[in-house]
Amino acid sequence: MSKVHNYSAGPCILPQEVLQQAAAAVTNFDNLDLSILEISHRSTSFVKVADSAIAMVKEMLSVPEGYSVLFLQGGASTGFLMTIYNLLTENGKAAYSDTGTWSSKAIKEAQRFGNIDIVSSSKDKNYNYIPKGFDIPSDADFYHFTSNNTIFGTQYKEFPEFDGVKVCDMSSDIFSRQINVADFDLIYAGAQKNLGPAGATLYIVKDEIFGRSGRNIPAMMDFKVHASKESMFNTPPVYSIYVAMLNLEHMLKNGGLSTYENLAQQRAKMLYSEIDSNPLFKGTAAIEDRSNMNACFALTDDSLKEQFDKMWNEANISGIKGHRSVGGYRASMYNALPLESVEVLVNVMKKLNS
Ligand SMILES: *Cc1c(COP(=O)(O)O)cnc(C)c1O
Repeated sequence: MSKVHNYSAGPCILPQEVLQQAAAAVTNFDNLDLSILEISHRSTSFVKVADSAIAMVKEMLSVPEGYSVLFLQGGASTGFLMTIYNLLTENGKAAYSDTGTWSSKAIKEAQRFGNIDIVSSSKDKNYNYIPKGFDIPSDADFYHFTSNNTIFGTQYKEFPEFDGVKVCDMSSDIFSRQINVADFDLIYAGAQKNLGPAGATLYIVKDEIFGRSGRNIPAMMDFKVHASKESMFNTPPVYSIYVAMLNLEHMLKNGGLSTYENLAQQRAKMLYSEIDSNPLFKGTAAIEDRSNMNACFALTDDSLKEQFDKMWNEANISGIKGHRSVGGYRASMYNALPLESVEVLVNVMKKLNS
């Protein structure tokens, strides 16, 4: 067991069991006497890994027929671009919600290509809430939003409704909550937040939207190309997919999505209860929109900073410094974070107030 309580915002904590299996495969993968780092992505042993990773994503999220699951390179930031190449028509427009740094970045990329309608934004209050009750024009080529705002600690508790093509960046809360994949046309997520190590990006694409933009799409940006080659149009991020597969296996063994949804709710409840009851702390996000994954909070009296920082450091807590755009603290509680780690943090907060 690691003694460090790892609250890293990303790349994220992974289960010890997964790390051990991943380490063993670096020297001897699948009893081949070869490393996972030095074999062909088209070898039987690795194709089996990729196939089972895809099958387990489908199982975890109950992905219906008619969707392709892809593991590609380039991070969620490339997902911003792939969304546009595949879905934005030459003279069309797209609708976006701006709820934080990552949605702003997605918008910025989209604006290079066409007419973008920002249908809701929480920029006026430094993104500390989720806008509600806005209209999405029915003639938009697609609507894009970010389910969990990793930096500002807000999360949609209910997803916006839109009858057209719906796209969601779920990088930082995928596999932590039940979702109905059929409500979406495209879901994407950088693996390093809640699935595995950096390097792989997960795409769940409705096959119906292939080539929807009518653009001359560069092959590497084209979902149809990647789907027709089962994510092996070019060399996929082999090791990253392998570790993600181990983690999916681990999560399914532990009860799948309902276990992790439950855990996420328990961790969040424990930490937010302390933030709300301890007079030395305050939460920075609107209460009803608080993220179960990334809890942002601050000291009510900044002169206690040095003392608090020393205390959590001594308790072997790592990674709770807030992002520079919010300040304060951010505790990222991804799937592999044990409840025990939250207990340790809560106890440090209590001790500061005693
Ligand atoms: C981290 C993050 C990104 C960026 O992911 P990269 O894989 O680094 O490109 C995008 N969206 C969200 C919600 C994130 O948390």
